[in-house]
Amino acid sequence: MPAATAQARPADSAAAGHWRTPARLCECRRCGLFQRVPSLLPGQSARCLRCQTLLRRAQTDPLDRALALNLAALAAFILTCLMPLMTVSTAGMVRHANLLSGPEDMGSSGLWELSLVVLFTTLMAPALKILAMLYVLLGLRLRRPLPNLRRVFALVEHLRPWAMIEVFLLGVFVAYTKLIDLVHIDIGIALYALVALMLAMIAADAVLDRQAVWEAMERPGIAHAAIDHAASVARATAPGAQGCHSCGLVCQPAEHDAECPRCGSRLHARRPNAIVRAWALLIAAAILYAPANIYPVLQVIQLGAGAPSTILGGVVELLGAGMYPLAALVFFASVAVPILKVIGLGVLLVSCQLGLAARLVDRTRLYGVVNAIGRWSMIDIFMETILVGLVRFGSVVSIEPGVGAIAFCGVVILTMLAAESFDPRLMWDAAGLNPGRSLASETS
Ligand SMILES: [Zn+2]
Ligand SMILES: [Zn+2]
Repeated sequence: MPAATAQARPADSAAAGHWRTPARLCECRRCGLFQRVPSLLPGQSARCLRCQTLLRRAQTDPLDRALALNLAALAAFILTCLMPLMTVSTAGMVRHANLLSGPEDMGSSGLWELSLVVLFTTLMAPALKILAMLYVLLGLRLRRPLPNLRRVFALVEHLRPWAMIEVFLLGVFVAYTKLIDLVHIDIGIALYALVALMLAMIAADAVLDRQAVWEAMERPGIAHAAIDHAASVARATAPGAQGCHSCGLVCQPAEHDAECPRCGSRLHARRPNAIVRAWALLIAAAILYAPANIYPVLQVIQLGAGAPSTILGGVVELLGAGMYPLAALVFFASVAVPILKVIGLGVLLVSCQLGLAARLVDRTRLYGVVNAIGRWSMIDIFMETILVGLVRFGSVVSIEPGVGAIAFCGVVILTMLAAESFDPRLMWDAAGLNPGRSLASETS
């Protein structure tokens, strides 16, 4: 059976470029269908024939524009780290905060777990992602390419969901509106730089054609082994063909060498132990959801008297203050999203294990939504970091973090990991739609 050709969508405006992407075989990451992605003009995109997942969007100048935007992001990141984020004052006392103040104060309050998570998601992951992208994009321009380009680019793919600048910025916004009544606030240069950083990072992701990067790595000296694209068409129809998890190349792994010839990653037909891992992480998240909502996430101590506040308590306070849109935002991100994720993933896992064939396209879309929204629950944690870092005015007014925040942060991270562990192609396997694959063969 020849591999079918994915649907190509025309560009919004007439593409003037002469450059076209090469036609390549691929395995859809969401449903496991092998298909041919046709040659595309800049601005055109190709979607999976079966589940409509985006397979590739061709870009004008797919590497150089991303390089320029990553350089801009680096400049904004350096400015964000060096300048003050906010300055608050009350009763003649002034306090400056930068990106590090919150995590430092969280650590000194004994909540070092939270401090590490915030440091990783707002500083380390974005910095690593920008530097790794610059290393890859600059390294590919050199006549003698830099070493380890494949590994560094695979690292970027793993870091992508954990760099949370846009979620952090929303957390800063919520913290700002909560602080207005409590203290006087001046916004620092770092906050403007943070907005620029977020825009540059989103744009850099949007203009990058990841497949074009992997194709640029096919030249000798970078690729792990020789790649024969003509032969891969025959491979896709043979039993045992696999799409590489990291770079998407369709391979026919030999018994002795189960490594992708292009990126060197280990090949697996499906994510290993996907269902067991996803269940374990999901159950752990559901258990932590109770303490996350019962224990206070923060405590405002004003003139010696303190009132601990839970996540729902925070929403009620915002409602009481008349900030309805903000209350809706915090309720959605902190209360609704974790519940929807746990229920959504549970439904996907059960329907997969029962081998249901109904609404597969809808369930695949649900997986995409569950996977994408999880990180937005971190708004509450980031807001708290800002509040704790800024409001430290002794007995006049100060904000202390609560243990509920650790449990809540655990819920967010565990549900993100659970969604990443699950492999939506298993639902299509279980329904018997991927020839030669069944759920039993993956789990045994
Ligand atoms: Zn698909
Ligand atoms: Zn690969």
